[in-house]
Amino acid sequence: MRVVIERLSKTYQDRSGQSVEALQSIDLSVEEEEFLAIVGPSGCGKSTLLNIIAGLLTPSEGDVFFDGLRDGSHPPTAMVFQEFALFPWRTVLGNIEFGLEERGVAAGERHERAMRLVELVGLAGFEEKYPHQLSGGMRQRVGIARALAVDPAVLLMDEPFSALDAQTRQLLQIELLAIWERTRKTILYVTHNIQEAVFMADRVAVLSRRPGRLIAVVPVELKRPRSETMLGDARFLQTVDLIWGLIKADAEKALVSPEGG
Ligand code: ADP
Ligand code: MG
Repeated sequence: MRVVIERLSKTYQDRSGQSVEALQSIDLSVEEEEFLAIVGPSGCGKSTLLNIIAGLLTPSEGDVFFDGLRDGSHPPTAMVFQEFALFPWRTVLGNIEFGLEERGVAAGERHERAMRLVELVGLAGFEEKYPHQLSGGMRQRVGIARALAVDPAVLLMDEPFSALDAQTRQLLQIELLAIWERTRKTILYVTHNIQEAVFMADRVAVLSRRPGRLIAVVPVELKRPRSETMLGDARFLQTVDLIWGLIKADAEKALVSPEGG
């Protein structure tokens, strides 16, 4: 599914009545079956952007279109959060089935679908475990399975692996790419890690410091399937450097411009 973001802006009003401009006039298209990464410094509005696309927040201005249609209340998306956000009182299977229960899917079909996803994310044998019995990596596998359970056309991922150790993160990156190849979802993947963005994505959208503006959309010219060996490729390193340069230039601009703070 194609996602088009048009002139999207968001200004929050905090409790003291102060306004915080989080996003400023973002224009961005994500193609059918594309893996798009979004990078930018902490606080630049990345989560705000995903939450608007997910229909969890309303924008101050602008629109989001899914295959040309605007559907703010029931967008065809599902979200994977950084902090896993699992129900501690539900088993692996119970967590994965949650969204299906909400949609009124019958128990038999729910179970069948959840079991297929357990396989897909590599959790076979752990169906009856509770989140506290799982490692961080396994919990995030549940998060991914739960999001995929409702068969969203667009998968939104907000720094999903940033709480994991480096080795687990690397493993899950590769596995997520394999899942993406199999399910052909459109993925919007937020991270503050430039290497991770370049390793996984077809293109990387680079946001400025707050208020987040789109600085550039950088294509990643690396073949698929991606593998760890590519982390040393000249092209990988050049792309990382290019994005790093864009972010650094933006940060330095803020130091000399009075409105930048
Ligand atoms: P990121 O995910 O890139 O770190 P966020 O989207 O979480 O950034 O936040 C962008 C900016 O908006 C930050 O300055 C943050 O403090 C502010 N912000 C986020 N949520 C709210 C809110 N509910 N009320 C007021 N300000 C907010
Ligand atoms: Mg965030």
